Amino acid sequence: MIYSKYTMSVFRRLAATAVDLIFPPLCVVCETVVADLRKTYNLCAACEENIKLGDALECAICGARLPDGKKICHPESPYLLAAAAKYENETVQRLIWQLKYRGQTVAARPLAHLMSRYWKEVANQTKNPLVIPLPLHRRRLKIRGFNQAELLARRFAQKTGLPINSSTLRRVRYIKPQAECVSRAERVLNIQHSFLIKKPEQVRGKNIILVDDVTTSGATLREAALTIKRAGGKNIIALVAARA
Ligand SMILES: [Zn+2]
Ligand SMILES: [Zn+2]
Repeated sequence: MIYSKYTMSVFRRLAATAVDLIFPPLCVVCETVVADLRKTYNLCAACEENIKLGDALECAICGARLPDGKKICHPESPYLLAAAAKYENETVQRLIWQLKYRGQTVAARPLAHLMSRYWKEVANQTKNPLVIPLPLHRRRLKIRGFNQAELLARRFAQKTGLPINSSTLRRVRYIKPQAECVSRAERVLNIQHSFLIKKPEQVRGKNIILVDDVTTSGATLREAALTIKRAGGKNIIALVAARA
């Protein structure tokens, strides 16, 4: 039994090496072949060095650094923001663009890698959190073919060993893209009543890590966080790859 498991793992490793020889893993950003240790997240050392990761949680309203994770300045915000990087960083922008607009789902790997690196630094003390990706409306999902937030959340959960629930938070209204709204006020109105918690018992009393790719005005995360809170969710940290 032990022997056969070992044989299988050797076989699997050989197969993986063969695949790497034919299709060497490339850096998603600059397309150079990535060294062995980095192949699982498709980001070369040079590109990774270009990205400065955040060093604290932030207030979702004023952007103040909250190193000890307490809502001091704006306790009325339903969530704290955990932004792994800033969208103004060109390497990060390129990764997100590949994922969201080029349909390169492999870009979720380096982004989730950055998110888990950042998470382990700044928010590792969060007790028993549950990972929930920001859902897409099923019509939008049909158009895009995948939910980028869910890809990130899955990889992040895998890397950190945290549990994930991607079915209880639902999108119940089909709205125009938030990016097409001209003001924050319009975004807040546009997104209102868009979410629903299908099974409140799955979030009740739990600390939630709400995952999305990018946050701009924060209106979408706020509405989702409010919905989770109303269903009994405890502390909510919105984890994004980048903050615009
Ligand atoms: Zn690179
Ligand atoms: Zn604040």
